[in-house]
Amino acid sequence: MSGLVFESIVKKFGEFTAVHETSLTIPQGKFVCLLGPSGCGKTTLLRMIAGLEAATAGRILLDGDDVTRIPTHKRDFGMVFQNLALFPHLTVGENIVYPLRIRGVSKADCLAAVKRLLDLVQLPDMAGRPVSKLSGGQKQRVAIARALALEPKLFLLDEPLSALDAKLRESMQIELKQLQQKLGITTIVVTHDQREAMTMADLVVVMSQGKVHQVAPPVEIYRKPKDAFVADFIGSTNLISGRISGSGKLAVAGGTLLADDLPATGDVTVSVRPENIRVTAGSGDNTPGCLAGEVSYIRDLGASIEMYLSVAGQQITAITTPSDRPDIAAGDAVSVHFPKDACVVLGDA
Ligand code: ATP
Repeated sequence: MSGLVFESIVKKFGEFTAVHETSLTIPQGKFVCLLGPSGCGKTTLLRMIAGLEAATAGRILLDGDDVTRIPTHKRDFGMVFQNLALFPHLTVGENIVYPLRIRGVSKADCLAAVKRLLDLVQLPDMAGRPVSKLSGGQKQRVAIARALALEPKLFLLDEPLSALDAKLRESMQIELKQLQQKLGITTIVVTHDQREAMTMADLVVVMSQGKVHQVAPPVEIYRKPKDAFVADFIGSTNLISGRISGSGKLAVAGGTLLADDLPATGDVTVSVRPENIRVTAGSGDNTPGCLAGEVSYIRDLGASIEMYLSVAGQQITAITTPSDRPDIAAGDAVSVHFPKDACVVLGDA
């Protein structure tokens, strides 16, 4: 099978388990983001792929070959780390050819590679420039070019854009994605920034406390989060406790909601994104999928309106656009509508 496979990988540091038993498959050619809060184990997972950290148990396979015990320098992977690790006293060209020189590539081929790689990262004619004279974004591109010099099977990046200012970071995210699409190289990026992951990834691996919670395309992660951690970590959401009654109804404080994929019975948590909740003036509507509430306060952010509501003692946030803003104010009674397809029943975290 082509791609990267983790088979029951575990990483312990002494007694502490940084990565709990994880099995997952990253298909060849995909752009994957390892996403999660600080300390969740994403860098450790990446370092195990790179061979910089030995797995405590399990195997890592690349295109069917077991690479678990292969030393880093023989893994044929390109890597870019947060600090970039460029040689500041060398020129752009010298930095890029460094891995080629070590492999004994001829001078003519090195020159051709520098030109090709600098064109690729949109820094043509920069080969003779000292690295110390480059901007943050330019250094980033040089590090990427150097990592790609050996045409690696796998491209690994650990928080590669975190040192850049917000604007440059956004444009580099798009550039990196376009570069990866052009090359079709399997790419794994560690980030704690969900926007960055949503922008670049074909597949997002959401982690917390050393465990993988969900692996799915960004839109699926957003629309169908598997558990409360994912629902809360990606974007913002309302988490509502409910109970399935014998008649297959989803009872929540203040009424009944409608949802697909309800389990037969038991307690559940439902996630509803604020932008999917509709609010209308007056508390008259008491049909399933609609609850009576009261407006706590309204925040007008110009492009969007946030409505903070009290519904049967629970705080619910709804978001709308200025053109759809209902005619309501703090203290008003409202009907809060939860469309069936917006109510996602979560599994256990
Ligand atoms: P961050 O976003 O802050 O870099 P992360 O998700 O990448 O976090 P890791 O660096 O993988 O997290 O660390 C996961 C856990 O393993 C943390 O609790 C960390 O303290 C611990 N850890 C990492 N490396 C070591 C080590 N060499 N020795 C002991 N504990 C370690």
